[in-house]
Amino acid sequence: MKKIIVVGASLAGVRACQNLRREGFEGDLTLVGDEKHLPYDRPPLSKTMLTSDQDPLDLTLVSNSDLSELGLDLILGEQATALNTERSEVTVGGEEIRYDGLIIATGARARKLSKFDDIGGIHTLRTVDDALAIRSGLQSSSSVVIVGAGFIGSEVAAAAKQRGCQVTIVEATEAPLVRGLGVKVGDAYANLLRSNDIDLRLGVSVEDVHGDENVEGVTLTDGAFVSAELLVVGIGAVPNTEWLTTSGLSVDDGIVCDETLNAGVRGIYAIGDVAKAPNRWLGGRIRRTEHWTTATEHAALAAKNLLTPESSNSYNSVPFIWSDQGEDRIQIAGDTIDFDEVAILSASADDQAFIAGYRHGDSLAGVMALNSMRSFVKFRRLIAGNGSWQDAVGLAEELQS
Ligand SMILES: Cc1cc2nc3c(=O)[nH]c(=O)nc-3n(C[C@H](O)[C@H](O)[C@H](O)COP(=O)(O)OP(=O)(O)OC[C@H]3O[C@@H](n4cnc5c(N)ncnc54)[C@H](O)[C@@H]3O)c2cc1C
Repeated sequence: MKKIIVVGASLAGVRACQNLRREGFEGDLTLVGDEKHLPYDRPPLSKTMLTSDQDPLDLTLVSNSDLSELGLDLILGEQATALNTERSEVTVGGEEIRYDGLIIATGARARKLSKFDDIGGIHTLRTVDDALAIRSGLQSSSSVVIVGAGFIGSEVAAAAKQRGCQVTIVEATEAPLVRGLGVKVGDAYANLLRSNDIDLRLGVSVEDVHGDENVEGVTLTDGAFVSAELLVVGIGAVPNTEWLTTSGLSVDDGIVCDETLNAGVRGIYAIGDVAKAPNRWLGGRIRRTEHWTTATEHAALAAKNLLTPESSNSYNSVPFIWSDQGEDRIQIAGDTIDFDEVAILSASADDQAFIAGYRHGDSLAGVMALNSMRSFVKFRRLIAGNGSWQDAVGLAEELQS
């Protein structure tokens, strides 16, 4: 293998390049990214970038000197527009670049309320430029409406509150964070948002947005009007796969991979937010996840599998996610999506610090901790060791005593 191209110059792409070199690849390595900035980390965009005057350069994932040590041909500000798997070529800036190995790490973009594109003051949050625009909006606005009570929406709400804004969250489902954590934990989390003086409107969505040069407010599907000078839309992300339309790769809400992250063609792997791949730890269930840890783990595995396909390994990892909502920290390990029962194992849901356990059969499938970092470590270890539900209940009793 003489030449490898990595498309997508963010977390997964950069980590893939680092891992390829670490695994001993000495050939030509090209990293292509359509953003102009040096690769940067996204989690701070909805946290410290909004709550402070943090310099975007602090988020850079890899320093200039580390980049030059990697010996990359780094192409920034250019999009890969097509992939020809028969000729092993990626089109970048109108030019075809040949590869022997390809890693696709094109991630996802924020889903928009496209009906209202013409109105100013409506933002999504995916890039550093989005974060700077929202930060500037927060500095000059007294009221903010956030559409979507997922992780990013809740984090932006916490930041807006910290900046002294009046904050309303509009969420179409019955509870915040419901898609990732279920209704019971979502309800408990709703209490926390409300106690932070956030106006939470559940079971409604945005019917209309008012304003012209700048947003003035929204009408909800229940007829209520909420005034707002800033509207932040956090309704999920769409994988960046359009450039693969003619490639023949299987795409279905992400690039469909096998458990080695191979995208169905020899020498082509997909990683990070764009990859829809089985995780052996989840019993082989296929998921596209949008989490930092998955992107870094995928990068390490795909680099190894691409270089030594004859001894390929499967993706096999206990999922892990964190989210900082102002002063509050959520941590999640294991499977909190497919479960038979969820129970508050430790503390009370009203205490704004609790551990929720997710039971699947007799096993502890997953755990979610709110403001309980030390206990979380113990439950996470239990999950990694295939602990039973009884073990989890026992651990909770031990921690309470
Ligand atoms: C605001 C925010 C907060 C987050 N907070 C957390 C958190 O607290 N905890 C957590 O676990 N995860 C968090 N995440 C998720 C985490 O950041 C992502 O999982 C991670 O960024 C995925 O990395 P990636 O490289 O796969 O994709 P991305 O980061 O999306 O990068 C893909 C890159 O490829 C580029 N690209 C796309 N198409 C092309 C093309 N055709 N040609 C060239 N380049 C292309 C994109 O512009 C982008 O630069 C957060 C994400 C966001 C947006």
